[in-house]
Amino acid sequence: MSLLEIRVLGDPVLRQETNVVTEVTPELRRLVDDMFETMYAAKGIGLAAPQIGRLERLSVVDVDEQRLVLFNPEIIESDPKRIKGEEGCLSIPEIYGDVERSARVLVRAMDIDGKAYEVEGRDLLSRCLQHEIDHLHGRLFIDYLSALKRRAATSKWAKEKEKYPGNIRRLTASEVAAHHHRDEEL
Ligand code: ZN
Repeated sequence: MSLLEIRVLGDPVLRQETNVVTEVTPELRRLVDDMFETMYAAKGIGLAAPQIGRLERLSVVDVDEQRLVLFNPEIIESDPKRIKGEEGCLSIPEIYGDVERSARVLVRAMDIDGKAYEVEGRDLLSRCLQHEIDHLHGRLFIDYLSALKRRAATSKWAKEKEKYPGNIRRLTASEVAAHHHRDEEL
């Protein structure tokens, strides 16, 4: 497995529509492994293909030790009740904001074996699924912020993004070490 470079805000790939996956090839299986590895190293709970520069309709999620591979995920039901909660994004480090999301969603997707399945998400899993599916259609959480909050986030990001030449975030050795240490503990 290998760590992938994470694309950050400013990279046009984050705004692109993804392509439906029709077959889970061995190459895509390896990509899924690398995406999990990268997500854990970055201490994320979800990662979508455009965030590592790919345009397959694919996200991986791990909330409450529920590890999900989602090819072509679609929200087929969403609770009208909405909950506000703070979000961040591995592609917009150090920027956080409150976003209203459906409290519960039912998602249909294809798993690593190419089989269709449904998963119900509540609370954090619901939020995470909606955030990751948004990524697959070029949407980012900052799009939901009020004009005022978005301006504040944008001006903070103007400074933060200088850390990421070429809009690329390479995980540091210490981040990776922390991840391996945590692995040993579990
Ligand atoms: Zn994100």
